[in-house]
Amino acid sequence: VAPRCPLDQVAIDKDKVYVDKAFQKETDNLGVKCSFSARGCPWTGLLLELMAHMEGCDRMMTTCPMRCGVEFEKRFLEKHRNDDCPKREIHCQFCEIRLIAENEAEHLEICPKFLVPCPNKCKRREVARERLTEHLENECMKQDLNCPFASYGCQFTGKKKAMKEHVAAKQLNHMEILCAAVKQGDKNRENQDKAIQEMEKKMLGIERRINGLENLYGPQLIWKIDNYEEKLAEAKSGKKSTIFSPPFLTNRHGYKLAMSACLYGDG
Ligand SMILES: [Zn+2]
Ligand SMILES: [Zn+2]
Ligand SMILES: [Zn+2]
Ligand SMILES: [Zn+2]
Ligand SMILES: [Zn+2]
Repeated sequence: VAPRCPLDQVAIDKDKVYVDKAFQKETDNLGVKCSFSARGCPWTGLLLELMAHMEGCDRMMTTCPMRCGVEFEKRFLEKHRNDDCPKREIHCQFCEIRLIAENEAEHLEICPKFLVPCPNKCKRREVARERLTEHLENECMKQDLNCPFASYGCQFTGKKKAMKEHVAAKQLNHMEILCAAVKQGDKNRENQDKAIQEMEKKMLGIERRINGLENLYGPQLIWKIDNYEEKLAEAKSGKKSTIFSPPFLTNRHGYKLAMSACLYGDG
């Protein structure tokens, strides 16, 4: 299809098309505004300078070099990179760890220094996450505490203030349960001692038996005759009247011997 003039649709003969240098010169020297003047670019100049300007014009759209997918005018690049980009690196304002901005919310869920509210809504109100247990155990005026003598049997629980009063008021009771516990401990220890003594006795017995076995080690043969019934029957029938043991030594470097047996007598 032959190209047509965009204005009156007349077909254009390519051979008759030429560059009108004089007209080009005229247009080159026309005064123009930046194509992005609507976005506020104040640049004006000659048409022939426009291309060079456009290349550097800060109203040109660009996409984030960090690949976050956001599009903005070039002039906002620095601001985007420093303040807005979800891929920019930041430091956690609580624990100072380096992280990617878009992961911040997730990090704050576990950040050890992040301030969390006291579950008892006490006066301190907010505590660093890593200190919460300590706060509840040692500081919080609204936390229910176990009596320090709980492991000795005191069942009292109460807030810090009540606990102070309890400990002050019940010193005698606490001494009593403490004494009882110590006595019980002694008894347990006695039982333990007994158990240990018995164990030692047993060990001694086992040791003696092991020594005994070692003394026996030497010219000793334990000859286990398997299939005895069968062999006895063979001996009776005269098929095989004598059987031989596996070879054994008289002692560690002694004679090698074998036993023989006639299960149904010798002839
Ligand atoms: Zn411009
Ligand atoms: Zn970005
Ligand atoms: Zn943190
Ligand atoms: Zn608290
Ligand atoms: Zn108590």
